[in-house]
Amino acid sequence: MAYDLDAQSRLAEAEGLALAIGITIAESFVLPVREVRPNLLFGAGQVDNIAIACEQNEAELVVVDGALTPIQQRNLEDKLSRKVIDRTGLILEIFGERAATAEGRLQVELAHLDYQQSRLVRSWTHLERQRGGFGFLGGPGETQIEADRRMIRQRMGRLRKELEQVRKTRGLHRERRERAPWPVVALVGYTNAGKSTLFNHLTGATVMAEDLLFATLDPTMRAIALPGVEKAILSDTVGFISDLPTQLVAAFRATLEEVTSADVICHVRDISNPSTAAQKAQVLDVLRDLGVIDGEGDTSIPILEVWNKWDLLNDDDAEELGEQVEADDDIVAMSALTGDGVDTLLDRLGSMLTRNATLRSFEVP
Ligand code: GDP
Repeated sequence: MAYDLDAQSRLAEAEGLALAIGITIAESFVLPVREVRPNLLFGAGQVDNIAIACEQNEAELVVVDGALTPIQQRNLEDKLSRKVIDRTGLILEIFGERAATAEGRLQVELAHLDYQQSRLVRSWTHLERQRGGFGFLGGPGETQIEADRRMIRQRMGRLRKELEQVRKTRGLHRERRERAPWPVVALVGYTNAGKSTLFNHLTGATVMAEDLLFATLDPTMRAIALPGVEKAILSDTVGFISDLPTQLVAAFRATLEEVTSADVICHVRDISNPSTAAQKAQVLDVLRDLGVIDGEGDTSIPILEVWNKWDLLNDDDAEELGEQVEADDDIVAMSALTGDGVDTLLDRLGSMLTRNATLRSFEVP
């Protein structure tokens, strides 16, 4: 559920996020919130409608694509008799699932604790107010919450120290880390750009889709065959998200750290999206932060841009953008939905890896 007036595309993004962690969406709708209600966010009538939708669909979970205060979240849960999560909660779940490096996991746990902590602090203030605002020190509720707060604070302190340690030794680790015996292609891009569709298409289209080793190790990695490359690893990453809550930025970057050990980065773009240029700029910013792109704009890892959803372009746009694709070897036009352009993509990836093979430690037969 989103509460913005023109929120259809955000809603689509939120649905994509929910799907990514295995939530089945029974129903989704936009609720215009003209006036934010401190207790429930939504108006009473709107909450009734949500309740009816929950009953009809036998929903177990309500996802609100916005920020809920701890009080709003708890009140909604009481009213709806269901678990309610907000956008930050949803994104944290995804990051938790996708964090692959030690740093990533620590960052995500920190963000999670920070989120929990804010919830405790505010529900405590709320309780105080209910009790008349005198602050009965030592009341049972308060003692428990104080204890929880202290535990969270201590855990956060330990995590920060660990994080520092991990960062100090990171350079060392990276050098020492055993390289995968096969070249790695990392998919990056905005949520909803079509990364999963492409991932499935590429792995489904090649013989090694059922590579059990990867299926059991990590659902976001698959072995694929490319022209001239017997075996490569295709690795999906957590998608970029618009309006990422600021307290999650560090966690997000850390979950993307794996990208820095890829041999080719495949940047999937929804070329039909009106914000595609701004989205690309954000992706490049993060790659710059990760050290993949330097101050001069040079890249340490070759980047192939996949202009996806080509099928959605009108003729004029397709013609204009087509000229750019023709002129640039680092761009491939395709539709992950129809499969148009996939052969060109595979060819291009194959030749990028072959070209790069001499620079990296893997061998291409
Ligand atoms: P991800 O979040 O980047 O993994 O994106 P998904 O693969 O989940 O795709 C998001 C939505 O875009 C889905 O509804 C897909 O069916 C749709 N989609 C993906 N690729 C294409 C494409 O090339 N053309 C069209 N028309 N839709 C696509």
